[in-house]
Amino acid sequence: MCVYPHQSTSSWRVPPIDTKTHSSHPQINPRKQVHFLGKFSQLHPKFYSFAWLCIQKIARENFLLSWLMEEFTKRVHDPYFQSQLASTTVSEDSLANRVWVPGPVIVGGGPSGLAVAACLKNQGVNALILEQTNCIAPLWKMKTYDRLRLHLPKQFCQLPLMPFPKDFPTYPTKQQFLAYLEAYANKYELKPVYNTTVVRAEYDRGCGLWRVKTKMAEYVSRWVIVATGENAEEVVPKFEGMNEFTGPILHTSSYKSGDCFENQKVLVVGCGNSGMEVCLDLCNYNACPSLVIRDSLHVLPQEMLGRSTFGLSMSLLKWFPIRVVDRFLLLVSRFMIGDTNKLGLSRPKLGPLELKNVYGKTPVLDVGTLAKIRSGDIKVYPGIKRLACNNVEFVDGRIEKFDAIILATGYRSNVTTWLKDTNLFSEKDGFPKKQFPEGWKGENGLYAIGFTKRGLLGTSIDAVRIAEDIACQWKMNMKHFKSLHPAT
Ligand SMILES: Cc1cc2nc3c(=O)[nH]c(=O)nc-3n(C[C@H](O)[C@H](O)[C@H](O)COP(=O)(O)OP(=O)(O)OC[C@H]3O[C@@H](n4cnc5c(N)ncnc54)[C@H](O)[C@@H]3O)c2cc1C
Repeated sequence: MCVYPHQSTSSWRVPPIDTKTHSSHPQINPRKQVHFLGKFSQLHPKFYSFAWLCIQKIARENFLLSWLMEEFTKRVHDPYFQSQLASTTVSEDSLANRVWVPGPVIVGGGPSGLAVAACLKNQGVNALILEQTNCIAPLWKMKTYDRLRLHLPKQFCQLPLMPFPKDFPTYPTKQQFLAYLEAYANKYELKPVYNTTVVRAEYDRGCGLWRVKTKMAEYVSRWVIVATGENAEEVVPKFEGMNEFTGPILHTSSYKSGDCFENQKVLVVGCGNSGMEVCLDLCNYNACPSLVIRDSLHVLPQEMLGRSTFGLSMSLLKWFPIRVVDRFLLLVSRFMIGDTNKLGLSRPKLGPLELKNVYGKTPVLDVGTLAKIRSGDIKVYPGIKRLACNNVEFVDGRIEKFDAIILATGYRSNVTTWLKDTNLFSEKDGFPKKQFPEGWKGENGLYAIGFTKRGLLGTSIDAVRIAEDIACQWKMNMKHFKSLHPAT
């Protein structure tokens, strides 16, 4: 049985009893409830508020006392106790809108949040997922274009414990990937708490627990797993004269397809995988796209020598040093797609894999855009100097007319806006300070998943590690608890 606070702190919404688990939250494991404190349930709720505060103060690092804390919180979730609470005026920071979560709290219900929750469940630990939107994987569902397919072959994008269906193509479509995620969530009975934005998460040294605050409630747990992703907020650059531009300016997160840009001159700013693919999509809808390429970049064919470039690179890296593999990739690319410098796409000094390793910059896997650049269907421009009316002036002095601008300028992490921690995450960019494979674990039960700059493969590696680490602590606690209470 779980109680969620409603708009006002004195009114309450009580969801139907979860008859299957009888736990204090639908996500929480049905641990055997020891109503050691049952007889106290006759007492007034204020007694519990007082007792909670006392226990909090002394419970740090003490399993028995934190178990007591759990028991107190279970009392708070009792229907009988709730009816008493409903008639009691409660203050903003009182016990009433605090929910004790025995397992970890996962912030974010994207592929990373789901993956780590499934791995934990597989180890016998139930986690609580808090998701700000009303669905799983909203990035994929709401912020991606229609023609999107996984950029990497499916075996490198599957989440732990469940491969993609055999009849899925090598590069599943966005809809197929979403269907896979739905099936994954169903298989592991993952039910995130939706429409719940975490506004603050802070480690309380006084009681040795994390306090995860949303607008409605505060969730208290020993573990917090940050799964809000590398793509939490759109990066929107500012250009001089942006307000004067008469046509639409939109981020790729709002772009669905090129059908409303037919016969229009569209400037796509940014040449990562999304920018390149949006240009191709625009061509297919008879629009006239141009691409702004400011920096050097590596473009590689999506497949070489009959294998995916990514898969081939992974295999070669097992045998050869990264620089040798980079040279090989560039040689084959030159043979397959020619000299990209001639098309206005200069290559960086570091090779594609080394660049990815050092700066996290992903090489673009070409799905047909280069051919369109070569044929002149897509024009290439350098950086933007300023916008005016329906004109764009570029840094090389050229001025061109455009009907619309699409910003393929990427995303950023939002972690610094809500997580009060300077140990694991950098305040500068909201990414773990330590690079892969180090950045998954912080202090005091804090974890990070999906910040490896290695896509879903990085997510899977993180998920398995985090689940093993937490399950190990969980099992030790249970063992200790059982030795203290052999009858339970
Ligand atoms: C267009 C595009 C194509 C891609 N293609 C591939 C690919 O082919 N292969 C690959 O490996 N990777 C790909 N990626 C990388 C992508 O980042 C991952 O596929 C994946 O979505 C990452 O999952 P995640 O759960 O870490 O992050 P997300 O999918 O971004 O999920 C994070 C979740 O956290 C929620 N959230 C954020 N802040 C809060 C908060 N304060 N409180 C509560 N909830 C919050 C969000 O609503 C979201 O649901 C692609 C990315 C993009 C944008």
